[in-house]
Amino acid sequence: MRLRILRVGKGQIDHELLWLSVSLVSFALAGAWLAIGLPWPRCVFHELTGLPCVTCGMTRCAVQFFHGHFLAALKWNPLIFTALCGVMAFDLYAFVTLTTRAPRLRISFSTRRAKTFARVSIISAFALNWIYLLSHWRNF
Ligand SMILES: [Zn+2]
Repeated sequence: MRLRILRVGKGQIDHELLWLSVSLVSFALAGAWLAIGLPWPRCVFHELTGLPCVTCGMTRCAVQFFHGHFLAALKWNPLIFTALCGVMAFDLYAFVTLTTRAPRLRISFSTRRAKTFARVSIISAFALNWIYLLSHWRNF
């Protein structure tokens, strides 16, 4: 894994602006969806099998997270909780770099071994999360 610090040039994608915007619009839309009482998303896998899928509990995790009940959010879905923490960290970083016009941080995987390690880590995280959810299937 390699970290680089660089300035965004003309014609280059401003990832911080793009993904901060996507994140804020998504959170606003999801909040509005729940605030006006539209139905919560239903899981087809859970309805067919009675078992949670790897993302089951995502909505309840997010609701608990944004109400500041972090332990409850973690219990609903550890992977989504971790992703929400990552998104919050990225949003904070993006806001600071955009407002201060600071150089940008870029992460790249330069070797094949590093790329493989990243892929295996992500797949393992999904698998461990699903094992956790299946062991708590009565909650769903
Ligand atoms: Zn599900």
